[in-house]
Amino acid sequence: MKADAQESQSLVLIVDDEPFIRLILRHFLEREGYQIAEAQNGIEAIKVFKQLHPDIVLLDALMPDMDGFECCTQLELLDRNKHTPILMITGLNDEESVDRAFEVGAMDYITKPVHWRVLRQRVKRLIEQSQLQQKLEAVNVELQLLATIDGLTQVANRRRFEEYFKQEWQRMKRDKCPLSLILCDVDFFKLYNDTYGHRVGDRCLQEIAKVLKDIIKRPGDLVARYGGEEFAVILPNTDTEGATHVANNICHAVRTLAIPHKNSQVSPHVTISAGFTTEIPEPDSDLEEMIYAADRALYQAKAAGRDRFVQNILLPRSINSR
Ligand code: GH3
Ligand code: MG
Ligand code: MG
Repeated sequence: MKADAQESQSLVLIVDDEPFIRLILRHFLEREGYQIAEAQNGIEAIKVFKQLHPDIVLLDALMPDMDGFECCTQLELLDRNKHTPILMITGLNDEESVDRAFEVGAMDYITKPVHWRVLRQRVKRLIEQSQLQQKLEAVNVELQLLATIDGLTQVANRRRFEEYFKQEWQRMKRDKCPLSLILCDVDFFKLYNDTYGHRVGDRCLQEIAKVLKDIIKRPGDLVARYGGEEFAVILPNTDTEGATHVANNICHAVRTLAIPHKNSQVSPHVTISAGFTTEIPEPDSDLEEMIYAADRALYQAKAAGRDRFVQNILLPRSINSR
C-alpha cells in the first residue's frame, strides 16, 4: 500500500555516508510516494535540514566528519518547536548505541540490514505523529490566546489585565521607570441600555473598544475590558505627561464617535470618564494601591460631571504615613 496523499507530499532526508545505502533507501521510499533529499554526513545534513525543513530524517550513526549522534544533537537544537522526527538507521545494535541514540533525541531506531516493512511503518507513523503534534500545538496556542481575550470586544480580558499589569509593574520596578494606568467607565450606560436595549449596548461597547485599540499604539501598551462597561489601559514607560495625553485622546475619541445617547445627562452622545495614575513602583509599594488610586481618580471624574479625565496624585509615602 502506498503512503496516502498527505504523506506523499512528505520530504524524507536520508543521511548516510555510503552512496549505495542512500540509493536503495531513495528507491524504496520514492516508491512509497515520498520526496527525497540526501546528505552524506552530519554537516551536510544540517545544511540541508535548514534549507528544506524535511518531515523526517533517516540518520546513519557512523559517518566521517560528524557522526549521527552529534548531528542528532545539533538538529534537536535547531528544531526546538517543530519536533521533526529523527529515525536512526545503523549497523550498531549494541545497547550503548541504542541508549545514546535516544539520549540525543532520536525518536526511533532501526538496525541494518533494513527490514523494509518495518521501515515503511516506522516512517509513516513517525510523520503522522509529528504532524498531529504540530496541529495540537497550534490549537494550544490558539486556545491560550482565546483564554486571554474578551469575547464581546476582542480586547484583552480581565485575566490578561491582571497578569500583564503584574508583569509590567515588576518590570518598571526593576527598571525604575514610570508605569501609568488609566481606568475608563462609560457614562450613564445603564440608561443607554434601558433606552436602546442590551444588544445596541453591546455594539456600543464594541465600538468603544475599537477606538481604544486605535488610540493605544505602542507595542507594550495594553487595552483590556476591566468589567462590564469599564476598560483599563496599561502604559509602561509612560510618565504623567504621556498618560494625560492618552487619557485626553480617549475621552475625545469617544466623544467624536458621536453615538447618540438621548438620555445622557451630560451630552447628546455617549461619553466616557477616566481616572489615571502614574507611578515608578518602589520596592515597598503595592500594586493594588495603584489600581485603587486610578479608581479613585475615576470616581472623581464622575463626581466632577463625567465626560472628563482626572489624575490621581499619589502622595509620597513619607507624607502618606504621617
Ligand atoms: P455612570 O455614569 O456612573 O458610570 O453610570 P452607569 O449607568 O454607566 O453605571 P452603572 O454601574 O450603574 O451601570 C453600568 C451598566 O453597564 C449596567 C450594565 O447593565 C451595563 N453593562 C455591563 N456590561 C455590559 C455588557 O456587556 N453589555 C451591555 N449591553 N451592557 C453592559
Ligand atoms: Mg461601571
Ligand atoms: Mg458607567
